Amino acid sequence: MSAKPRIGISSCLLGQKVRYDGQHKHDAYLTKTLGPFVEWVAVCPEVEAGMGVPRPTVRLVGDAASPRMVEESSGRDWTETMTRWAAARVSELARMDLSGYVLKKDSPSCGMERVRVYARAGTAPRREGRGLFAAALMDRLPLLPVEEEGRLNDPPLRENFIERVFAYHRYRALLGSAPLTRSALVAYHAQEKFLIQAHHEPSLRLMGRLVAGLKGRDLRQAAQEYGRLYMGALARQATVRTHTNVLEHLFGFFSDRLDPSERRQVLEVIRQYHRRLVPLVVPVTLVRHFVRKYDITYLLGQSYLEPHPKELLLRNHA
Ligand code: SF4
Repeated sequence: MSAKPRIGISSCLLGQKVRYDGQHKHDAYLTKTLGPFVEWVAVCPEVEAGMGVPRPTVRLVGDAASPRMVEESSGRDWTETMTRWAAARVSELARMDLSGYVLKKDSPSCGMERVRVYARAGTAPRREGRGLFAAALMDRLPLLPVEEEGRLNDPPLRENFIERVFAYHRYRALLGSAPLTRSALVAYHAQEKFLIQAHHEPSLRLMGRLVAGLKGRDLRQAAQEYGRLYMGALARQATVRTHTNVLEHLFGFFSDRLDPSERRQVLEVIRQYHRRLVPLVVPVTLVRHFVRKYDITYLLGQSYLEPHPKELLLRNHA
């Protein structure tokens, strides 16, 4: 398991000149801001499948659920070539411990959703397809956090994706620990509890029951089930209301250790966050400060307090 999360990415987003016209689609946020904290695995499906650079453009045609990939100018059909190559490449990627994937939007190979599909020549496209490689990847690795570069310009979506990448990286490290023990899974759940709560409380309850009933169960199977619930919960967007709830809950663990002015300070900052006057980083930093100051052991290792590198400033949007 690599120390940094390993993330698959459409090569053109890294600045590689692999597009049909010999150009790239460099994304500065990905290379300059996120890049230092992750390890990229670049894949260009069209080049790797043998379509060359430059190349004629292709598009998806037919049924959106199982479209064909066809060259616009000549009508040459690339479906079999791309499908066979994608299945083999995805098998390789499945062995590479990926913790996430960033795909180029709108591409008939890489697009994750809403890719144009043409029912037949001369008709307007419908935005209901998935790129052939993206579909193979997402079907084979359903827990893998996957996002398109365009959606990463939205601060809450970006925060959610990167949070899931780092969470999946931690979870895969747990699965990779040999031997996986019951106490390791219990400890993992204890450390992730408040992060899960911020995303989806009903899942937290289900996961709590799963972890409480591990005795006599096949541990690998239970950990897989845990992973499905965990990644499903984190895929739900946390809100100001759910974060406020978690912050108040955390506060309850150490409020009796604070003097009256410290107590007022924490409550005031949580209130300001609730009214959207300050970003999430403000109450979380204050809570983390008191957790360290008063050495609140139970909360010290909580992922919620630092789910991703703070240099990424993901919790700084109002
Ligand atoms: S979108 Fe995908 S197939 Fe197209 S150039 Fe980028 S990496 Fe290659």
